[in-house]
Amino acid sequence: MSNDLTRGGANYGFFFDQSLCTGCKACQVACKDKHDLPVGVTWRRVVEYSGGSWRIEGSTVTPNVFTYYTSMACNHCENPVCMQVCPTTAMSKREDGTVYVDESKCVGCRYCQWACPYGAPQLDPRTGHMTKCDLCYDYRSTGQDPACVSACPSRALDWGPIDELRERHGDQAGIAPLPDPSLTEPHLVIKPHRDAQSWDAGTGAIANPKEI
Ligand code: SF4
Ligand code: SF4
Repeated sequence: MSNDLTRGGANYGFFFDQSLCTGCKACQVACKDKHDLPVGVTWRRVVEYSGGSWRIEGSTVTPNVFTYYTSMACNHCENPVCMQVCPTTAMSKREDGTVYVDESKCVGCRYCQWACPYGAPQLDPRTGHMTKCDLCYDYRSTGQDPACVSACPSRALDWGPIDELRERHGDQAGIAPLPDPSLTEPHLVIKPHRDAQSWDAGTGAIANPKEI
């Protein structure tokens, strides 16, 4: 057994290779299954973002469209607004930099849900408490990868200390439909899809709103 994967000061986060993601949702389903989440609670969600236009020249119409997927969960932010608004200190940060909910302190007020620009905290109607991704703390404490990372057949997801992820993959995190990364400084690095749009471009729309 190893506890290297819960190392204090590591500041863990996610890497997402958008160019590899096929939108299959294996990550989403693996997360839901592993944490036994009820209907309506989905800690990891796969968003489809689409847009585009066309050019008309005489009788010829040429489409210029894009669509791509973003697999997203809690980003264990450097500046977690969820913690700042929580009136009971239920939303907390572990020594390893991951943010979790202490359900024994949560009163279900939903302030964290409203504050988080990623929609990460979600209320479990069975308990009346907030829940969210803790980067599979129990798996990590026994030396295993988070369930979503292991499940991805495209190897589009990875995780690790955010400094190491940024050294390897850069520091892009501002891809639409995700918000301005300066709001919370997410521990997230994205390798963009070839058609990825900047968070502030306003060029597309979420194509699967009922799934997320
Ligand atoms: S993604 Fe949301 S819930 Fe997760 S740490 Fe950042 S602000 Fe908090
Ligand atoms: S499992 Fe991998 S390829 Fe499938 S939706 Fe998730 S990140 Fe994308």
